[in-house]
Amino acid sequence: MKRILLVEDNEMNRDMLSRRLGRRGFDVALAVDGLQGLDAARSSPFDLILMDLSLPVVDGWEAIRRLKADPRTRTIPIIALTAHAMSGDRERAVEAGCDDYDIKPIEFPRLVSKVEALLRRRESAPKPERAPATGPDVRRPASHLRLDLLAPITRIGCRAGFLAGESESRTDRVERLRAIGILIAEARDAVDASLLSQGPDRPVDLSALTSGVVTPAHEIIRVCDSLEASSSRTADCAEFLVHLSEVRKDAAQMISIVWQATADPGRPPA
Ligand code: MN
Repeated sequence: MKRILLVEDNEMNRDMLSRRLGRRGFDVALAVDGLQGLDAARSSPFDLILMDLSLPVVDGWEAIRRLKADPRTRTIPIIALTAHAMSGDRERAVEAGCDDYDIKPIEFPRLVSKVEALLRRRESAPKPERAPATGPDVRRPASHLRLDLLAPITRIGCRAGFLAGESESRTDRVERLRAIGILIAEARDAVDASLLSQGPDRPVDLSALTSGVVTPAHEIIRVCDSLEASSSRTADCAEFLVHLSEVRKDAAQMISIVWQATADPGRPPA
């Protein structure tokens, strides 16, 4: 039976989620604040952690950072539960090191599919105790690279979704913003495929990462250019253009992170 630690201060959410997870066959332990969550995660083994972000004593972001910095708990997948889609909670959670996130109010089937996906990945990944206790942890660079890439990827995903929602009446815009959403989802999948189930003795597949991340990032920049070219310079477009330039910046960052990881002086600059 898979053990899940649910860290949630809201009693109603906690009861509802733990009951539903229990009915799905998970063994659920509860913590009501970030510190309790840290103590629980360190004192017994868990297969996955569901972490609310807004928590008393130690907040969810800090708890995730500490869990991911601790060799005893680093490999436990964490799903952050965020209350607001656009507030930057998700970006901060990704930066703190969460493996996935879900938005409240929780849609249970969606959450369970995320839980099961992470458990499957963990199953196929090497067990932490098989890694040598001393010596270089070769999975570390892959996990760091993944987090580095997920930060701009998440920002672009949020921004494209937000802008598409704001541009409802402009079908030409919406179509291209959706294209950005599809490209960024592809990049995210490529990052996970190359970096998540990384075995300790397998090097990072940089060529897969290059085609899976750099190609969509270049395409996103191209779509930004075409969106900008078709936007008028009127005041109502000003904010849209600011968002676009942020998307372009993040896409450029994705490219430069991959080029830096390849550390091959023969590579073209981003
Ligand atoms: Mn809360």
